[in-house]
Amino acid sequence: MGTSELEVGHGVRRNSTLVCVPIMAESVDEMLDQMRKANELGADLVEIRIDFLNNFSPRQDLEILIKQSPLPALITYRPVWEGGQYKGDEIKRREALLMALEVGADYIDIELKVAHEFFNFIQGKKPEKGLIIVSSHNYENTPSVEEIGDLVAKIQATTADIVKIATTAQDITDSARIFQVLVHCELPFIGLVMKEKGLISRILSAKFGGYLTFGSLEAGVVSAPGQPTIKDLLDLYNFRQIGPDTKVHGVIGNPIGHSKSPHLYNAAFKSVGFNGIYIPLLVDSVENFLNTYSSPDFVGYSYTIPHKENGLKCCDEVDPVAKAIGAISCMIRRPTDGNLIGYNVDYLGAIAAIEDGLRELKSTNGLSGSPLAGKLFVVIGAGGAGKALAYGGKEKGARVVIANRTYDKAKKLASKVGGEAITLAELENFHPEDDMILANATSVGMKPMIDDTLIPKKALKHYSLVFDAIYTPKLTRLLREAQESGAAVVYGTEMFINQAFVQFEKFTGFPAPKQLMWDVLARNT
Ligand code: NAP
Repeated sequence: MGTSELEVGHGVRRNSTLVCVPIMAESVDEMLDQMRKANELGADLVEIRIDFLNNFSPRQDLEILIKQSPLPALITYRPVWEGGQYKGDEIKRREALLMALEVGADYIDIELKVAHEFFNFIQGKKPEKGLIIVSSHNYENTPSVEEIGDLVAKIQATTADIVKIATTAQDITDSARIFQVLVHCELPFIGLVMKEKGLISRILSAKFGGYLTFGSLEAGVVSAPGQPTIKDLLDLYNFRQIGPDTKVHGVIGNPIGHSKSPHLYNAAFKSVGFNGIYIPLLVDSVENFLNTYSSPDFVGYSYTIPHKENGLKCCDEVDPVAKAIGAISCMIRRPTDGNLIGYNVDYLGAIAAIEDGLRELKSTNGLSGSPLAGKLFVVIGAGGAGKALAYGGKEKGARVVIANRTYDKAKKLASKVGGEAITLAELENFHPEDDMILANATSVGMKPMIDDTLIPKKALKHYSLVFDAIYTPKLTRLLREAQESGAAVVYGTEMFINQAFVQFEKFTGFPAPKQLMWDVLARNT
């Protein structure tokens, strides 16, 4: 199934991949209500899951559902043995599916395991209208390319109109095997990989020419694990604009569900007309990910916990600043030779935000040079963000102190930046002087553990400014207690937005639409 450029509304639609909303309710009225909502939200078709209906009366209910559907209707009557709700006998199921075609369904779905029997049953009875999807669901894993290819051949041999293969992601690289088969399949192909690690398959189905992708009406109310909402598909991921030439970007981390970066970059890409997509990438092994998605269209990544150091090891070239820090926050595939270049732009964002915060403090008014110069700068954390802050502090002439859970890491980093290492326990009574600067560069206090903090409130009175790299939530417990103790605070959002401007420019070559990005961030934190 190829993709084509279609005109949609005011913009160019770059793919012909349909967006299908699964309709799952216990009554016909609720289903009709959901179908209307799907239509309002911009779906192309609905999958009516009649196995969810209580007291299903085939002739009467199918007439109503199919005739009153505001959108083309796909009828699915999924049995329990393929992950559905239907527990009755096969003959009644077949009759209901044939009836759906007679009433005018645009599509029906039949499972590969019983497809031959079904085609025999409908022989000579099938009306002209109505396409038959033959589906196979694997709730365990995603087989090899050869095995998926064999499945496609088996489905084609049934005389299906459309092939559907849904597998389960154990790793983000599993989707690549579905893409590989997808681009070579002669029949229209719905190829999706379930669970969070399979999200990429659902979004990039538009790039690789999938026949359709599913989007749920509500978050969490899904017909298969890992389904995004239709709203996210259309508004967050700009699904209609994705096409064969769309450049793929994303944030590599684990966990990654909390990231606001997709909101920021996708909105910014769209606003400048850049043909790119930015996806949350739940990655276990950076090396496997980069080796698998090595095509020239996979072009740019942000790096977050716990992969900033792993990312550095996978670069072909590393910017000197990132090398000194020992971690990257951004990776770009150079178009001329495909080499992966690593950068650390956290350093710029965080230090600029702290300097701005200090300049606003009375005590630094009128001073030239960096307001961090000469200050005692306590950094909690020695991971990617901790290194960036410690390195940045040193560059600006601060006296750096590192506190970290793993004390050895604190010592190593302190010796690199010519600073001092302390344990987390020492933080409570550490106040060689007043007017110190504190930066939290650990994930302690981040959603959902928002009540956690690594430094007792009473110790905060010795700090004139406290920064927290965490930006979900914006006001962490640490920052709230710092405010209550009279310190100025700098939010992680400042660091986040500053580094996002720099990354955007590296991804696109365009100046960052700064106001738009601030507005998107404000709406999403
Ligand atoms: P990382 O490389 O994985 O480092 C994590 C750090 O947190 C390490 O120092 C680790 O200590 C410490 N840590 C984790 N759990 C802990 C616990 N339960 N108790 C004590 N210490 C703990 O992660 P990262 O990339 O540096 O990110 C750290 C934080 O900064 C995250 O919340 C991230 O979202 C935030 N960040 C924000 C921005 C922004 O733009 N605002 C940018 C980058 C990062 P050990 O060494 O002992 O494991």
